[in-house]
Amino acid sequence: MGTDTSRSVLVTGGNRGIGLAIARAMLAAGHKVTLTSRSGEAPEGLTAVKCDVTSEESVKAAFAEVEAQQGRVEVLVANAGITADTLLLRMSEEQFTSVLDTNLTGAYRVSKRAASSMLRARWGRMIFISSVVGLSGGAGQVNYAASKAGLIGVARSIARELGSRNITANVIAPGFIDTEMTQGLPEARRAEILGQVPAGRYGSVDEIAAAAVFLASDSASYITGAVIPIDGGLGMGH
Ligand code: NDP
Repeated sequence: MGTDTSRSVLVTGGNRGIGLAIARAMLAAGHKVTLTSRSGEAPEGLTAVKCDVTSEESVKAAFAEVEAQQGRVEVLVANAGITADTLLLRMSEEQFTSVLDTNLTGAYRVSKRAASSMLRARWGRMIFISSVVGLSGGAGQVNYAASKAGLIGVARSIARELGSRNITANVIAPGFIDTEMTQGLPEARRAEILGQVPAGRYGSVDEIAAAAVFLASDSASYITGAVIPIDGGLGMGH
């Protein structure tokens, strides 16, 4: 492994949780990093642009700002995501479509915008943050699991469309990681999940960030269309 080229990185939903850890790790690896936050506020030591991935206008404006600040986006981390868990029979169409709009259509919006400049540069890395649930399903998560499974189709199609232009598209499928998203789960559900994880613990945000940094590195140039599980063994067999 040689010294990595410093890249222009954009992380969506980077103001907290997994996205923030990825942004910090990319910065530590020597990259230029901007994260998106819906408030526009940046965590200490980082640069942010305001962006809501459910709005094409907002995505366009955010990319323009990033390009002015640090050049065209070379590494995109599509991380922004929400949950609205409930059982199918209780799930409203709005609960279904709003989760799809943020997690899946949001990723489409940012990857489409990023692809145009990556194509011109003949180089790019797209990293989609999916979930173990996208492969295994999850009771109460028809909307979320559908969105996360959809990201695999998005990444693999992009890998095929743009592979010959030096653009890779990969998926990270985290298991249960200690963030606000999982802290919101009922205690009984948290205990039940832990019982199914061979590692016997939740993952840390830094364990996800390390894989994202690797996928963005020069060493990962021949990895594309991959789904990388980081789940303490929870999803084995998928
Ligand atoms: P958090 O809830 O801690 O953070 C979610 C991030 O997404 C926030 O920065 C949030 O911004 C942002 N976001 C939500 N909606 C939008 C939107 N419409 N436009 C722009 N940004 C938005 O979640 P995690 O860090 O835990 O999760 C990050 C990703 O990892 C998600 O895609 C999640 O599905 C996935 N994941 C998480 C797992 C876990 O165990 N935690 C497991 C598997 C996957 P804001 O602060 O403005 O709300």
